[in-house]
Order: sequence, then structure tokens, then C-alpha cells
Amino acid sequence: AEWQDANLNAGLDSTLNVVMNEVKYKADVRRDYGDLPPVRCIAAQLNQVFMNLIVNAAHAIPQRGEIRLRTAVEGEWVRIEVEDTGIGMSEEVRRRIFEPFFTTKPVGKGTGLGLSLSYSIIQKHAGRIEVDSTPGVGTTFRVWIPVKPPGD
Ligand code: ADP
Ligand code: MG
Repeated sequence: AEWQDANLNAGLDSTLNVVMNEVKYKADVRRDYGDLPPVRCIAAQLNQVFMNLIVNAAHAIPQRGEIRLRTAVEGEWVRIEVEDTGIGMSEEVRRRIFEPFFTTKPVGKGTGLGLSLSYSIIQKHAGRIEVDSTPGVGTTFRVWIPVKPPGD
């Protein structure tokens, strides 16, 4: 794995390209990107996080909805938000989403590994992930990655 200085807007865009065929049937994707400094990261791994969040967002939308990707600088951090107008989650589900193998999807449809893997990738980057969700309204995942990891 290669640490590099990468622009996370570009990472989101290239990830979106990969999943757009799957996503476009469920959602209009809106992008609201801030001007970001390059971030010290393993770009391929952060792209995997973005992919998990975007695909989960699309899966959570029953018919047709919207996915919003937002980025911004927050002090020494870059913040990435993936917001959807999907089914949302109950408190009970929300508490368990980062557990390996936890899924609410039918057998064969979900491994339940996407968010636990994403969590480890973000930990490795000394970052943070949070979720806000309202059943019937939607979900927002927020990820913070330090521009320079501590000790770098
Ligand atoms: P999988 O997608 O294989 O189920 P994940 O680890 O990616 O595994 O997600 C775990 C669970 O978290 C999902 O099964 C779903 O219940 C919940 N979840 C994740 N993202 C969303 C979202 N955007 N909206 C609603 N529920 C979600
Ligand atoms: Mg998933």
C-alpha cells in the first residue's frame, strides 16, 4: 500500500465513475465540493471507503432519490459527507453497522463487511467516521481525514 498526497475530490469522482452505472438507476448524484488541499493517504483505500458509502446509499433508496457528496476543509481536516434520501436506519441498526458481518440485506446480497472495513481504513488514517440517520428521511455519513497524519 502506497501513502501519497491525493486530492479527495478526484478520489470521489473516480470512485463515482466506477459505480455510476449501478447508482444512476436509483439516484441523482449531486456534488458540492470544497477546495481541498492534498491529503496524505492511501488513496486506493479511501476510494474503497467512498465506494462502500455510495453503494450503501444507493441500496438504501427504495425507488428513486438523491445522493449528495460534500467535501470541505475543517481546520487540519478534510471532511467528506455522503448523504442519501433513503430509508434511514433505526437506533438498533445504527449501533451495529460497524460490526463485521452485520447486515440487514438478504443472504447473498450483503456481506456486512463494507462498513467494518471502512472503519479500519479510516482508523489507519487517524480519521473519524460518524453517522446521522432518520428512518424514512435518510442518512448522512461524515468522514474526517487529517490533512497530515500525526507524526508524519
Ligand atoms: P452490507 O452493505 O453488506 O450490508 P455494510 O457494512 O456496508 O454491509 O452495511 C451494514 C448495514 O448498515 C447495512 O446492511 C444497512 O443495514 C446499514 N446501512 C449502511 N449504509 C446505510 C445507508 N446509507 N442507509 C441505511 N442503512 C445503511
Ligand atoms: Mg455495504
